[in-house]
Amino acid sequence: MAQKILVVEDEPAIAESVAYALRRDGFTVETAGTCAAATTAGEADLIVLDLMLPDGSGFDLIGAWRRAGKLTPIIVLSSRDGEADRVAALETGADDYVMKPFSPREVVARVRAVLRRAGPGRSSPAASDLSPLSVDESTRRAQVDGRALELTRVEFDLLSSLLESPGRVYTRAQIIDKVWGDGFAITDRTIDSHVKSLRKKVADSGGDPGLIETVRGVGYRVADQPRPSGEKP
Ligand code: CA
Repeated sequence: MAQKILVVEDEPAIAESVAYALRRDGFTVETAGTCAAATTAGEADLIVLDLMLPDGSGFDLIGAWRRAGKLTPIIVLSSRDGEADRVAALETGADDYVMKPFSPREVVARVRAVLRRAGPGRSSPAASDLSPLSVDESTRRAQVDGRALELTRVEFDLLSSLLESPGRVYTRAQIIDKVWGDGFAITDRTIDSHVKSLRKKVADSGGDPGLIETVRGVGYRVADQPRPSGEKP
């Protein structure tokens, strides 16, 4: 059966172009133009969600769904200047975001990537096979392209956290939670410097330091597919 996507967006032109591209790609699509309509919509395999809706904010929907235990993956549509919104959306429980203006094809690609990560095999060893980087939790060993990486505890936990879901963006606050635990006063610069030394070790082992991508203003992620050679990280 076709996977179903719920598109929550009040601008008809945007909603229609996204719905059209998804349908052409084989998905079933339901659209909703308000929070109220989104709340009463049927179950979906993934939700594409605009943050500014006529009767409320997409954040409220994400919060309400996650509190209710709804685990449906969510991709947020965010305006280009909405850096704080993107961070807040990821921290509220969104899985990814796409910046407006976007091409419908870009949305379809993100939908496919998020469904791939959310599908069977989530957080199984298969997920790490997507990246040339790998960690073994039981032996605390890390590798790039099969070559050993000598990492500190923090670098290992940082890499291990990012590899839980290759392609997914983690905010700095989420990384702090995972690596140091909740409530630790770690500055963004501390994380940035650990990332820098991690990248250097990857490069020293002959790997591509750009595998650990900076998502400007938001956080970090591990690339979920090899980048074309020559492309800047
Ligand atoms: Ca809107």
